[in-house]
Amino acid sequence: MTSESDHTPPERTGPRPIIAALPAMTPGERRIATSPESVAKLVGAGWDCVLPIGIGEAARFSDAMFVEAGARVAGDAESAIVGADAVLCIEPPRVEQMRSLKRGSLLVGLLAPFTNSALINACAEAGVSAIAMELVPRSTIAQPMDALSSQASLAGYAAALRAGDRLPRVLPMMSTPAGTIPPARVLVVGTGVAGLQAIATTVRLGARVSAYDVRAAAKEQVESLGARFVSIDMAESGQTADGYAKAQTDEQLAAQRQALTEVCAQSDIVITTAQIFGRPAPTIIDRAMIAGMKPGSVIVDAAIATGGNVEGAVAGDETTIDGVTLIADPDLASSVATEASRMYASNVVALLAHIRPDGPSAELDPDSNEILASVLVTHRGTVRDTAATSAHDGAAS
Ligand code: NAD
Repeated sequence: MTSESDHTPPERTGPRPIIAALPAMTPGERRIATSPESVAKLVGAGWDCVLPIGIGEAARFSDAMFVEAGARVAGDAESAIVGADAVLCIEPPRVEQMRSLKRGSLLVGLLAPFTNSALINACAEAGVSAIAMELVPRSTIAQPMDALSSQASLAGYAAALRAGDRLPRVLPMMSTPAGTIPPARVLVVGTGVAGLQAIATTVRLGARVSAYDVRAAAKEQVESLGARFVSIDMAESGQTADGYAKAQTDEQLAAQRQALTEVCAQSDIVITTAQIFGRPAPTIIDRAMIAGMKPGSVIVDAAIATGGNVEGAVAGDETTIDGVTLIADPDLASSVATEASRMYASNVVALLAHIRPDGPSAELDPDSNEILASVLVTHRGTVRDTAATSAHDGAAS
């Protein structure tokens, strides 16, 4: 097993391979794929790190912090990536940017491999080896590289705080001379990494929390955080062998909606985080359920980046439906961009150290280890067979 801590920089002659990072480009995205700590590790491992001026501004990292960590900070995003052996990003780059990348270079990022067939094809055409961080396996050895988990955890935390902030009442029980305030009631739907963090955060804030997941195995985790698990009899297991949720039948979704309607009506806050790996998120909260909620209640749809769990949610919008505030921010992790960037950058450094244990380079042997085989979506001009390939073929046809 290789970890970043036992990654010893090799003795090198000749120039160091260059690693660059792209700044965030879409509005609302404030995270970046690097941090001063990760730059120091990359430089220590033998990379020459080149960053565009101002890359860390929105995540609150100054250019001086990166220079002190050992990076060269110069020019803009386009000039930084030209000639680089590896390019790091947190969101998918533009297809046109693939033409600026060196043949044989690495592109490492959250590349949306299930839906962004145009980018994946462009990487193959440009001879770029694309590594999709979404495809890091959910195994113990891969945990330090698991960017979906690190970002989901922060998104769950941010969703809880956002909901509490927008709710026109307090979360904890308060006994005051003016009277006793009962605790706010929270329902969390989907108890993967984001949902568990939303539960933990709202429980810490003093709310009375209920949670539901289609995976019955989640009950124990929910209860261990001090929340109540909403049990709905679904006849069969809602989980795949890998621990992900299965897509449900229409009948199962209808049974779920009926049972959740009652819990929603009692809740001041509903936070939804239900996703199905590689597929659009299921619609779970419908208009009738929203109409049954108390005016002033708040819903945060934290699954909006993959389509959302709430009927009527529009990515990027905060709307009011039947007196209920509906927040659908696809960039929740960006609201804690400093830590989100640090954690993501750490995931990337761990992955690079794992796939190139003998030193920095863009050269890869896809058969050398299982994690690389999972994440490498294009290599030597071809689109490889990965968990994303069938979705990619479907999108391209
Ligand atoms: P995810 O983001 O894919 O989905 C979030 C949650 O939504 C999941 O718990 C899922 O069961 C639930 N869900 C899906 N459809 C639903 C529906 N119709 N109704 C209610 N809930 C629904 O999940 P995730 O955070 O990626 O975690 C998936 C699994 O992987 C979990 O069991 C998690 O503990 C596990 N995991 C393991 C590792 C590891 O071993 N290294 C790392 C991360 C996650």
